[in-house]
Amino acid sequence: MPENDSREEIRFAGTAVSPGIVRGRVHLKGVLMDEPESRRIAEGEVEGEKARLRQALVKTREQIIEMRQKIEVSAGSENASIFDAHLLLLEDSTVLDEIMRLLENERRNVDRVYFEVIERYLESLRRIEDPYLRERAIDIEDVARRVLRNLGPGENADEEMVFEGMGEEFILVAHDLTPSDTASIDRNHVMGFATEVGSTVSHTAIMARSLNIPAVVGIPALRSEVETGDVVLLDGYNGLLIIRPSEETLEKYEVLKAEKAVLLDDLQEMRDRETETADGKQITLSANIEFSHEVSQVQKQGAEGVGLFRTEFFYANEEALRTEKAQTRQYIDVAMAVAPNAVIIRTVDLGGDKLMPGLFTEPEPNPFLGWRGIRVCLDEPDIFRPQLRSILRASARGKVGVMFPFICCVEEIRNAVAALDEEKENLRKAGEPFDANIEVGAMIEIPSAALMADELAKEVDFFSIGTNDLVQYTLAVDRVNDRVADLFRTSNPAVLRLIKHVVEAAHRNGIWAGVCGEMAGDLMMTPLMVGFGVDELSVGASQLLSVRRAISRLEVPECQQLVEKIGGVASAVEVETLCRDLAMEKYPELIS
Ligand code: PEP
Ligand code: MG
Repeated sequence: MPENDSREEIRFAGTAVSPGIVRGRVHLKGVLMDEPESRRIAEGEVEGEKARLRQALVKTREQIIEMRQKIEVSAGSENASIFDAHLLLLEDSTVLDEIMRLLENERRNVDRVYFEVIERYLESLRRIEDPYLRERAIDIEDVARRVLRNLGPGENADEEMVFEGMGEEFILVAHDLTPSDTASIDRNHVMGFATEVGSTVSHTAIMARSLNIPAVVGIPALRSEVETGDVVLLDGYNGLLIIRPSEETLEKYEVLKAEKAVLLDDLQEMRDRETETADGKQITLSANIEFSHEVSQVQKQGAEGVGLFRTEFFYANEEALRTEKAQTRQYIDVAMAVAPNAVIIRTVDLGGDKLMPGLFTEPEPNPFLGWRGIRVCLDEPDIFRPQLRSILRASARGKVGVMFPFICCVEEIRNAVAALDEEKENLRKAGEPFDANIEVGAMIEIPSAALMADELAKEVDFFSIGTNDLVQYTLAVDRVNDRVADLFRTSNPAVLRLIKHVVEAAHRNGIWAGVCGEMAGDLMMTPLMVGFGVDELSVGASQLLSVRRAISRLEVPECQQLVEKIGGVASAVEVETLCRDLAMEKYPELIS
């Protein structure tokens, strides 16, 4: 489609999940190429068609390996690992046997047979409401599209595809992206993405923010509205995708971009400052990371350490990183890079929307209420123990803390701490150094844990409040379901009461409390964080400087008064108004 297309612009609104404004051509993901025509073949042609398929598979394999190598160089081996799964799918014997059988029995052209078999397979996967199988469906589509192209006429066969895009930068449009899709995005090609489903606190959105990729999710039926090649503008601040933006729109966006650039520039002065309120109360402002290579970026943004190192992404995506040696290396690298500040490593939080092929063989009816986090760790010592030893080894090389996710009762934290103590003993016997006083924390992200905070506080050195899950479980609102996204409010008074209780319980018992869910970086909520007396906020890299500035403009008594005021308020909307009023008064330039 020509760039000077004269048709009117069309705007689609969704949820802004990762800031930034980009303009470029769309690349649609997740739609199989045109249906190949069905053609009868003679008995004598069957072997030739089989050979054609074999050649296409070999070629596809070579392309995937080449792409894997390219991405490994540009984005690191964790991001390239998705292609290992693609290679496995290519060799899936269920699919290949079925194709060979149909070729012999029905005698039709191989591209058509391949297409039909894959479509049927995808249809059955799409009907199952399971995130792991959905993730597989997306991978299968990627691979199938590539094979079909390689089966096609010679001149199309080398056309670049999917994450390679169109040899230039593009905006990816998809029904959905899994956390591993997002991790494998090649930043050299993908400027931003828009999806039909998704939410602000899904791990896909969290990943987009940490990779600095502008993103909008939750635009229904978007794939039927745009085509590959359409020129669009993606507004990751206001959650808009604009097809064929008019001159006037483009001019407005130039102004907005310039304003944002000025603000970012201005915020640089916060980089080397302490994080403290206008009346001198200090708060630790650290960063959340998903991959060890993010450390340099968060350091550049002035983070005072890493408050949450989510270990499941590098771990689940790449088999090589599951070894004890590779983990130890990763943790030591991060510990040394952030020293003298601390890194808090969270033991692996598999389950929910973060599945690991091979471990989750049976789909669960309710994955977010199932085998997740510490439950998996305690049941799988072969996963848990090497990770604990790796973390302990890293504690000898920097300031390291360890925390356990998804704690729902006191027994779980006791069992986790007992496992840690046993591994300390093992290292001691082996003469390996570690920090005997390593800080141990519990994530408070399940209402039962919040309610039992006084008891749990006696078992650990700190709490880290995971508001993403605390909201999900307190309000019974699936964090990745955009249909109920309106109910997902950190401002809900029930959630706020739990947070207040947890911080007070921590202080009553002489331990510190931080917040590491996305709420920690929500500037509207900063006055409440200060008013509650939260000791540490751990936020995404892009939020660090603005949160530091917001804190610098607030005074503790006015924040405490706000806490008192909202104590008597029953509705989330009213809470939001009160918070917004104070935020607008104190740091209007940070609130869009
Ligand atoms: C949370 O639940 O708030 C949290 C920080 O953990 P995650 O988002 O990884 O579940
Ligand atoms: Mg959580």
